[in-house]
Amino acid sequence: MEYERMLDRLYMMLPEKTSSMERFELPMLDISVQGKKTLIRNFSQALKAVARGEKQFYKYVTKETATAATIEEGKLVLNGKFFAENINRLWANYLNEYVLCHECKKPDTQIIERNGVKVLKCTACGAMSAIRKL
Ligand SMILES: [Zn+2]
Repeated sequence: MEYERMLDRLYMMLPEKTSSMERFELPMLDISVQGKKTLIRNFSQALKAVARGEKQFYKYVTKETATAATIEEGKLVLNGKFFAENINRLWANYLNEYVLCHECKKPDTQIIERNGVKVLKCTACGAMSAIRKL
């Protein structure tokens, strides 16, 4: 009885609502090396989770690693061996520039074109940030 009452009190102390920032967990990439290739096994899934097209991150990662890659059944297959932590660092950089609002860091953003320039528009705070062309 006493224990249940304690639990009740604990639940009451938790905030009722959490902001979208707290709900959003950045997906990590699931990486494995097979022979001379590096696979991002959850490539399609991860991009779906952050609401971005596959082509953009494909361009980003091939440019940053200076290697060729193919998309096979939802996986990205990079030519060459790469450390998982390096690929995940690229992924984090990509998210910071192309997914998370540069001002409030929320993921509620869209990429729009403004006067021929691509910008990251935040639907949460309204900020518009320039992004590099890929
Ligand atoms: Zn914002």
